[in-house]
Amino acid sequence: MAAVTIWNEYRHEREDDEVAAVYPDGIHTTLADALADEHTVRTATLEEPDHGLSDDVLESTDVLVWWGHEAHDEVDDEVVDRVQERVLAGMGLIALHSSHYAKIFKRLMGTSCSLQYREDGGTERLWVVDPGHRIADGLGESIDLPRSEMYGEPFDVPEPDRLVFVSWFEGGEVFRSGCCYRRGSGRIFYFRPGHETYPIYENEEIRRVLRNAVAWASPTDGSPRTFGQRE
Ligand code: ZN
Repeated sequence: MAAVTIWNEYRHEREDDEVAAVYPDGIHTTLADALADEHTVRTATLEEPDHGLSDDVLESTDVLVWWGHEAHDEVDDEVVDRVQERVLAGMGLIALHSSHYAKIFKRLMGTSCSLQYREDGGTERLWVVDPGHRIADGLGESIDLPRSEMYGEPFDVPEPDRLVFVSWFEGGEVFRSGCCYRRGSGRIFYFRPGHETYPIYENEEIRRVLRNAVAWASPTDGSPRTFGQRE
């Protein structure tokens, strides 16, 4: 059981009726509900002081889950610095869907993190391409999402350490939808599904992926990281 903090910018749900109909209590609340069976969960949002990510909160977080879209630029650089430091020290980070453009994800990747997209509500099939991976525990060979936003390659990220999911879209595009990274002692998972106008975080298989990803990204004891001059 990991201590999870779910961060949501929490804008679309308050400004757009179509989104509010899908996620009436905010995407963070639905994500918290998905994780609560196996992990201890709290939430944080953009409008809170320090965006809800004070030193105390980050110090007591094993895995930070991030959902942002329209307000990436409003995230304070000092908070980004703190989150980066915690990831390097071992905190896990799960970046969801449009968080490919979150400041913290771009910082940790060092690339543009750009991609192609088309919001057409078409079908997505998410293939498990690394069936032995912890994040794929309990899944079938693929997950079907009947209505989804298309994300297409090229996805300008560094080559993932492990690739767990590849998406196929009915328009013919493909996308690396489940990418694992290590930065310092921290584990990072980028997971594509989750557009705000489709109830994707209500899907039981997607919820299982989220719980698995938290378990995978949780810090391990490892060995101390010591740097600098050695006597
Ligand atoms: Zn989207």
